[in-house]
Amino acid sequence: MTPSHPSQSERHARARKVIPGGVNSPVRAFKSVGGSPVFVASAKGPFLYDVDGKEYIDFVLSWGPMILGHAHPAVVEAVQKAAEKGLSFGACTDGETEMAEAICNLLPSVEKVRLVCSGTEATMAAVRLARGYTGREKIVKFRGCYHGHGDSFLVQAGSGAMTFGNPSSPGVTRGSAQDTLIAEFNNLDSVKALFAEQGSEIAAIIVEPVVGNMGVLIPEPGFLQGLREFCDGKKTLLIFDEVMTGFRVSLQGAQGRFGIKPDLTTMGKVVGGGLPLAAYGGRADIMDMLSPEGPVYQAGTLSGNPLAVAAGLATLKEISKPGFYDRLETLSNRWENDLRTALEKSPVPTQVNRVGAMMTVFFSTKSVRDYDSAVACDTAAYGRFFQACLSEGLYLAPSQFEAGFLSIAHDESILARVAEKTERAVKKI
Ligand SMILES: *Cc1c(COP(=O)(O)O)cnc(C)c1O
Repeated sequence: MTPSHPSQSERHARARKVIPGGVNSPVRAFKSVGGSPVFVASAKGPFLYDVDGKEYIDFVLSWGPMILGHAHPAVVEAVQKAAEKGLSFGACTDGETEMAEAICNLLPSVEKVRLVCSGTEATMAAVRLARGYTGREKIVKFRGCYHGHGDSFLVQAGSGAMTFGNPSSPGVTRGSAQDTLIAEFNNLDSVKALFAEQGSEIAAIIVEPVVGNMGVLIPEPGFLQGLREFCDGKKTLLIFDEVMTGFRVSLQGAQGRFGIKPDLTTMGKVVGGGLPLAAYGGRADIMDMLSPEGPVYQAGTLSGNPLAVAAGLATLKEISKPGFYDRLETLSNRWENDLRTALEKSPVPTQVNRVGAMMTVFFSTKSVRDYDSAVACDTAAYGRFFQACLSEGLYLAPSQFEAGFLSIAHDESILARVAEKTERAVKKI
């Protein structure tokens, strides 16, 4: 390679000198699948183009946001128009009100909403609000669920008893870890045990209603309803972390798809259309505890940024068009069926979990429904599948424990190409 066109690994080496691991978010490094990460030059519709001009069909979609495909003309135009009017004001705009109205109209459980800049910010603020509202300190989270990198969430089950959390990252204090109780997804008994012991101290349960961050795990019938009932019994708040599932598994998110009403909802990813915008909202009496209306503090210099709001509003407009999610479901169903067919020839057995336009192929002999069954997967087989797909031009998440996403731009002709490429890739597992 000439110095004017360094290879991808040279680019990664250069980045590593000035950025820890060469990445601004750990999962972008190909640590669990090997090789050096792809450096992206541009993206359009279902395609990603790397710095060498190689085309990939993208199933990462910026980890979820790009439900319309990359660089959708309506979204790009909205951002360009907004940019000409100024990049940030730190003052009120009509766009923020429109965005809040759009979210409240779409999600019946959300009466008021606050815009923030990342999913992490939304979940941290929602938990603080739940604590402020209830006057309690403990929260329940599920082992393996991801809610961003706030201290309260970087907690693992303590050895032996499940009742006290331990920090899962250096730098998280025992104090914050001890206020986080760990339960098991799809296991109401594990929640029941925590509530029996400490129910009156629990401010909130926070859950990914469809898990995306252990790979896709589907809530079993009655699980989410059971959480609702534990919360109602102890005046605990139920927080649905819909940063991934919101506007992804249906226009009303997982709460619409499964018919459960949380007290608070966190949103991100799709809601910002690819720009840094996230949100949290819920019952008005809870949201009115927020400053300046109430005593719970939360703020943000760039919150409700006009470019991010423009991208979000343009995205919500497109996905609200009649038939959008029916079409996405049809495409997702075909994507799943083609994949299942291709994987029949896999030397390692696989399990496919899909809800709407999010799906994971687990390399495992038994069905994957919780943390233990997820971590039991053959990650080496996933790594071989990943590399084979990458060389075929299919860009999958560089980890077994992630969701794959489809956009509305992945039409039948794209999916036909995906099916052929996947069949070739499966032979190399
Ligand atoms: C991505 C994600 C987050 C964190 O959002 P960021 O914007 O990366 O901070 C939180 N919760 C869930 C369920 C997510 O998928």
